[in-house]
Amino acid sequence: MATNNSNIASKLQAVNNNISASAAAYNRDVNSIQLLAVSKTKPVSDIVTAYEAQHRHFGENYVQEAVDKIQQLKDLSQLCWHFIGPLQSNKSKFIAEYFDWMHSLDRLKIAKRLNEQRSIHQKPLQVCVQVNIDDENSKAGIAPSEVLAFVEQLQSLEKIQCRGLMTIPKAGVSATEREASFAQMQQLFTQCQEKFPNFDTLSMGMSDDMDLAIKYGATIVRIGTGIFGSRN
Ligand SMILES: *Cc1c(COP(=O)(O)O)cnc(C)c1O
Repeated sequence: MATNNSNIASKLQAVNNNISASAAAYNRDVNSIQLLAVSKTKPVSDIVTAYEAQHRHFGENYVQEAVDKIQQLKDLSQLCWHFIGPLQSNKSKFIAEYFDWMHSLDRLKIAKRLNEQRSIHQKPLQVCVQVNIDDENSKAGIAPSEVLAFVEQLQSLEKIQCRGLMTIPKAGVSATEREASFAQMQQLFTQCQEKFPNFDTLSMGMSDDMDLAIKYGATIVRIGTGIFGSRN
């Protein structure tokens, strides 16, 4: 369902204002925090509205839906597409071809495929390693204890550039538990930065926990509902 246009622009403004307020509250440089507008299930007209309000970074979860939208919007310059959903390895070529970023990398097999499929004419694919911070059986991601070794294995892949970590913490927990997960992510991220100096991206925080994520060092916050309204 299309959301009212001025509504999207004003919500985008409100989210940007909230990011500024959180940055100020936690002594963060506001320019170190990128807002990713998560447009999954929303029509291209909503993306165009956000684009007209100067927004450029969009996140999508479903490969086919995303490719359709990217093709439809290919004439809009400077759009930056981030894949944030789970990926089956047989769909990796679409990510390699159409996306600038992938946040949900958690398998070496997929990393190798993306590396082979990324054209030499494109910039390397920018990736984040997804971390299963709350050790959930149902959730994708690498266990915290295995992250450093996994990132090490990505270093030889020339057409993917590992920029950092991403997480989707456990749903329905208390603010205290959520805070503990984000704090653990920040610690892990700092450890990674010591070993991989070009690590600069910590992708965490959604509509309900953005402020807390910024407190713990998020450099990309992924906001869907807060910009485009609830999904069906
Ligand atoms: C859907 C989704 C989001 C956005 O969630 P909201 O609660 O709508 O802000 C962020 N990250 C991922 C990985 C998602 O799948």
